[in-house]
Amino acid sequence: MARLGALEAGGTKMVCAVGDEDGNILERGVIPTGTPEETLPALISYFREREIEALGIACFGPVDLNRESKTYGHILQTPKEAWRMFDFAGAFREALGVPVGFDTDVNGALLGEVTYGAYRGVKNAVYYTVGTGIGAGVMTEGRLLHGMQHAEAGHILIRPRKDDTFSGVCPSHGTCLEGMAAGPAIEARTGKAGKELADGDAVFDLIAEYLAQAMVTAVMMLSPEVIILGGGVMERSALFPSIRQKTLSLINGYIDTKQLRDIDHYIVPASLRGEQGIKGCLRLAQEAAEGEVKK
Ligand code: ZN
Repeated sequence: MARLGALEAGGTKMVCAVGDEDGNILERGVIPTGTPEETLPALISYFREREIEALGIACFGPVDLNRESKTYGHILQTPKEAWRMFDFAGAFREALGVPVGFDTDVNGALLGEVTYGAYRGVKNAVYYTVGTGIGAGVMTEGRLLHGMQHAEAGHILIRPRKDDTFSGVCPSHGTCLEGMAAGPAIEARTGKAGKELADGDAVFDLIAEYLAQAMVTAVMMLSPEVIILGGGVMERSALFPSIRQKTLSLINGYIDTKQLRDIDHYIVPASLRGEQGIKGCLRLAQEAAEGEVKK
């Protein structure tokens, strides 16, 4: 068994773990996210002391995933100013001298689910996180989608419902999906944190409507075999039946597949109960180690 390092790098906390290629987590720690000068030394000594053979990082974005680029592995134009253009993957590769795998937080979570979760082996899948923001990881034919940069599926444009006059909270687009349906939108709409609201609150019918529109876009654009929904907002399990029903209603029979006929197993909650991200990092580490052997 290899000793693999896993780092789920978030805007508020860094989750570090050591595990193996079967997805077993042997130990873990949490370090609050400060500036790079505050946070990096603690992370590096955590992994150095544990003598890992490779490290997988799933990082908040936007990040540069293009291996041909001079800024590969850097964090790009994030609102977190101290981290802007920081060479995240490079800092660990240099300090630890081990292979480093690097991807977005949402691609990491998706990779965890399709490697170790209930959707093991699925080659075409989309993973959405719906929390303080909305993001999506995309896998097509067994490969995580990077493309020009990576998907920014929280910022797709949606069609506001006729009775919804809310102007949205996205600083760039106002009424994009994230601007209308993420945690801060729920709070701006109701004056309360989402967690304080009852399942029956009218706001959740709107949230389900917009998430269903996103599901339809994913279905039409990417033809996934499963769509996994995680993140704080999706801990409200009552949203699932509503999103599924609205998705079918919007598709309106245009596509008829066995997956859509069994929609309870098509639009699904994350199966790894919050561990999908860190386990995805283990897989990224393993892939980085294998890539090194091939060279
Ligand atoms: Zn936006």
